[in-house]
Amino acid sequence: MRTPVIAANWKLNKTIGEARDFVQKFRPLIKDVTNVDVIICPVFTSLHAVHEAAADSSIAVGAQDVFWKDNGAYTGEVSAPLLKDAGCRYVIVGHSERRGRFGVPEADLEGDAGKVFGDSDASVNHKIKAAQAHGLIPIICVGETLAEREAGNTDAVVEAQVKAALQDITSVDTVIFAYEPVWAIGTGKTCDTPEAGRVCGHIRNVIGAMSGEAAANAVRIQYGGSVKAANAAELLSQPDIDGALVGGASLEADTFAPIVTAAA
Ligand code: PEP
Repeated sequence: MRTPVIAANWKLNKTIGEARDFVQKFRPLIKDVTNVDVIICPVFTSLHAVHEAAADSSIAVGAQDVFWKDNGAYTGEVSAPLLKDAGCRYVIVGHSERRGRFGVPEADLEGDAGKVFGDSDASVNHKIKAAQAHGLIPIICVGETLAEREAGNTDAVVEAQVKAALQDITSVDTVIFAYEPVWAIGTGKTCDTPEAGRVCGHIRNVIGAMSGEAAANAVRIQYGGSVKAANAAELLSQPDIDGALVGGASLEADTFAPIVTAAA
């Protein structure tokens, strides 16, 4: 039986004070939930504050990205040992807002800042290895764009991302995958529930073919893309959906807590 895992991706939101206030308000709302792993992923500057505010609770802290080198001349980067030092247990890797499919160099910085980040399948794989080397659990995001879905390439795109992410990874059973169709993130468009469940099942099958049935059965797979209280229970009822990665609806304690209780 896989423990459900619900993670909040706060993206570029909340000051340290706002992050602390959230945790204070959120803790009593989920105090009776014992069978769900709850993770909050704030911006780097709030990691330690959230870790402290969540002390003696079931809330764990995750980062939104990690660099694969431990230290050195890498201005602006944050490494896995530093995330551990700040209290992290998890890290999101390869979120579509960071993947290099959007890394066109001629990006208009004002109009589309999302295009300046450059994660590739290879860098995602390096980041997973770095996270695991330091005892962090990676939440690995995969998912197709609308153009890829409309071209009928969803399964192939997701399969390629899963295979590249897991290349040379030996402890596969502890990673978490998040199936996040890019067109559903922050758009209010949720993937149709059976289809979300089907793609998560496909991810599990790909893992099984690569790493064996035991690993595939152990890996937790989240769905992400406009999850909210109203659709969480239905999505989580799918046999291959073990949790949710939540953006917009995780920013307020009273919209995030019902998603956690739906998983309980
Ligand atoms: C996300 O940021 O990973 C996400 C799923 O966002 P939202 O819930 O806002 O679609």
